[in-house]
Amino acid sequence: MSVTVFGSLNLDIALRLPSRARWGETLIVDQATEALGGKGLNQAIAAARFGAATRMAGAVGDDAAGTRLVAGLAEAGVETGAVARIAGARSGRATILIEPAGENMIAVEAGANHAATAAGALSAIDGETRVVLAQNECDIGEIAALFAHPALAGKRRMLNAAPAVASAARLFGLADMLIFNQSEFAAYLQLDAEPETLADLAVARRLLTRPDQVVVVTLGATGAAAIRADGAVFSPAFPAAQVVDTSGAGDCFCGVLAACVDLGIGMEAALRYANAAAALAVQAEGAAPAMPGRAAVEGFLGRSG
Ligand code: ADP
Repeated sequence: MSVTVFGSLNLDIALRLPSRARWGETLIVDQATEALGGKGLNQAIAAARFGAATRMAGAVGDDAAGTRLVAGLAEAGVETGAVARIAGARSGRATILIEPAGENMIAVEAGANHAATAAGALSAIDGETRVVLAQNECDIGEIAALFAHPALAGKRRMLNAAPAVASAARLFGLADMLIFNQSEFAAYLQLDAEPETLADLAVARRLLTRPDQVVVVTLGATGAAAIRADGAVFSPAFPAAQVVDTSGAGDCFCGVLAACVDLGIGMEAALRYANAAAALAVQAEGAAPAMPGRAAVEGFLGRSG
């Protein structure tokens, strides 16, 4: 059993601004942090920490950032043989500007992530692989080629349709499980308002084209739900004692859900684990560093009753 994650790897540079920036203005920043990021990397680390044998497929540049990204994955126990190092390319970078009230603005330089290929990902898929998880931060055509490849027959193809890019709708029929947050769900289904309740999620069935498909929607501090053609389950979130940093909550949820599918855990229990892991993640600083291990999730669930 193993999980292959095909996705982005970025170096995140977070700058805490002394005031809200205006176009044309120069601000001097005295608090800056660098961290490993990218939805692919974050989700791979979450799956590995939860206990799934996890392989990452993607691409970095041949710069110092690329070395750090690969080393960070390996340190978390993720197999990195299918992370290509592209000569002459820069690794992906995200610059995050955070204003004093906490609102942020993010500009992502995709860099080498654009060079990640389906062929590269296939090298990390074999008879052991049970789950292939992708997000919308790599080339959509490469994800389509990967999901449609005969080598994936019988494996669970999970797509976290984030960020919501219109062209990724063509992947929906190729995936066995689609995962959205509220704003992505509203964007793809062209809803006037974000869904809040299980009743609001009934329209998810419009996305289902096969009886074995499932749509999972994360509802922030409310929890998450899974919708199939013949039924739906809702799983409540766990109250966080103190919300420190919600970045990476969705990535934690997706990585843990993929690990649970790989480990043969049923949907209801899987949603509970993913909600619990994400509740722990929002109580710690950063995205990748905040991903909890399975023992921490089990301990938290034990205390939550
Ligand atoms: P995203 O991070 O992609 O915007 P959500 O906000 O829906 O996604 O969060 C993903 C998951 O993280 C939720 O389904 C829930 O399990 C957990 N979560 C998010 N915010 C909180 C919170 N304030 N308290 C507890 N759990 C949370």
